[in-house]
Amino acid sequence: MSELRELYQTTILDHNKSPRNFRVPEGANHAADGFNPLCGDKVKVHVKLEDGVVVDVGFEGSGCAISTASASMMTDAVKGRPVAEAEKLFERFHDLVTGDPLTEPEFDPEIGKLAVFAGVREFPMRVKCATLAWHTLRSAMEGSGEVAKTE
Ligand code: ZN
Repeated sequence: MSELRELYQTTILDHNKSPRNFRVPEGANHAADGFNPLCGDKVKVHVKLEDGVVVDVGFEGSGCAISTASASMMTDAVKGRPVAEAEKLFERFHDLVTGDPLTEPEFDPEIGKLAVFAGVREFPMRVKCATLAWHTLRSAMEGSGEVAKTE
């Protein structure tokens, strides 16, 4: 997994340095807060939903490099997708980061660039950092308005 690990590091550094969609999208009509007490990561995800489609999405907050990079890549991955597809992508992503660290992740065309997060498998403490933005996105899409927890 050394190639993937290298890609993991460069991708996370890049997205942490210049996060994509780090903003409140114009016309956002759903939002939720997320907090990962294990690491201190805080994120707020804003979504513009129209006819069940994530038309636009952005985030704010502060956290470790993994949580920031994950939020950044998540916004790129779900923008333009129907809510149901975004939910499915979260399930796949969750499977990816919680998989057996000793096995090479299976190639999943749907996951695309998010595959670099397979590197998180080796660091179970970091799984919550990587999934925080996704949990928060789900809360935002459901519109519950509650603070998403990583439990
Ligand atoms: Zn973290």
